[in-house]
Amino acid sequence: MGAGRSGGWSGMRGIAAVPTYVVMQPTTLCNLDCAYCYLPFRRADQRMPVTVAEAVAESVNAWARSGRFSVVWHGGEPLAAGRDHLAALLAPFDGIVEHHVQTNATLIDDAWCEFFADRDIRVSVSVDGPAWRNGDRVNRAGRPAYDRILQGVDALRRHGIPFSALCVVARPEPGLAAELYDYFLDLGCDVLGINIEELEGVNTRANRHPAEEVTAFWAELVAAWRRAPRIHLREIEWSLRYVGAVLDGTADEVLPRRLDPIPTVASNGSVVLLSPELAGFHDPRYGDFTSGNVLSTPMDEILAGALGTPWIREFLDGVEACRSTCPYFGFCGGAHAANRYFERGRFDVTATDHCRNSKIRLLEGVLDHARDHEPTAI
Ligand code: SF4
Repeated sequence: MGAGRSGGWSGMRGIAAVPTYVVMQPTTLCNLDCAYCYLPFRRADQRMPVTVAEAVAESVNAWARSGRFSVVWHGGEPLAAGRDHLAALLAPFDGIVEHHVQTNATLIDDAWCEFFADRDIRVSVSVDGPAWRNGDRVNRAGRPAYDRILQGVDALRRHGIPFSALCVVARPEPGLAAELYDYFLDLGCDVLGINIEELEGVNTRANRHPAEEVTAFWAELVAAWRRAPRIHLREIEWSLRYVGAVLDGTADEVLPRRLDPIPTVASNGSVVLLSPELAGFHDPRYGDFTSGNVLSTPMDEILAGALGTPWIREFLDGVEACRSTCPYFGFCGGAHAANRYFERGRFDVTATDHCRNSKIRLLEGVLDHARDHEPTAI
């Protein structure tokens, strides 16, 4: 089975008028200083005023009335905003809105667990595996953050709060995928996302790896997951859904019809669409990448005018170039704008090291695993 077909894909045309979630930055501050972090202002505590949350909530509350809708609190470190301030930012949102936090877990204690439980907040913890795999996750003094991360996870477990985990892999190597999967089984997360480190933002570390090592990493991860499929493994489940659709002849129906605009609302209310990682950056050609500010323009209007942002038009040209040239488009949909910009300096290009690592080789790894296990293939 090939990866798909190039050309003729009908999904991912233009941008949806309504997102499925909004990313909110309650503070730019982070109490850690991870080596691969992309955030430019993580030493500054620029807190989101409540007026910004109120403006966003006007649109979000209306969207949530017509379907499931999420707000993802992402920093900086969102818990560094403090419980009282985060509570004030959450208050304008109706009870039907789902809240998520992406956290480094180092600040989680009993009081935070009660805060999460009272508000039914979904927690996702950033941790890169066992202690020796977390060398990049350090505090401001350069000391390992792992013990503090684990204390936070222990608090979640004590309180019976389910959590997801997000793991960054700096260098795929043989044996790592199985080691990580076993670690996360023990950790007790119910959902796991694996990101191969990306060159973006202020992180300029190269992310090019030998193709066979990356493909073997993903194949090994599928094998580990199949032995004990107790965690929802984000990347593997996406891939299997796609492979199943190829076999059923429905591969063209896998991608959403339109791109999710994924508005990221920075602490000052400015909105960057499609790629949270572009928030806070400036380029002589593209300006500050923002499409408006919720303090002066309703979110619906910002979204309706998305195509007025020049870099977004250029990105849509890039998506069309992917559609017409890349056999993986039906799985990938053109990947993320920020990776094109940070790796290649513009948006109308196609392949990046990110898409090779996290789309092409992911799918190839799943297919390799299936080929190696015929005839009882997945
Ligand atoms: S981003 Fe990469 S994998 Fe995705 S469609 Fe474009 S070239 Fe293909």
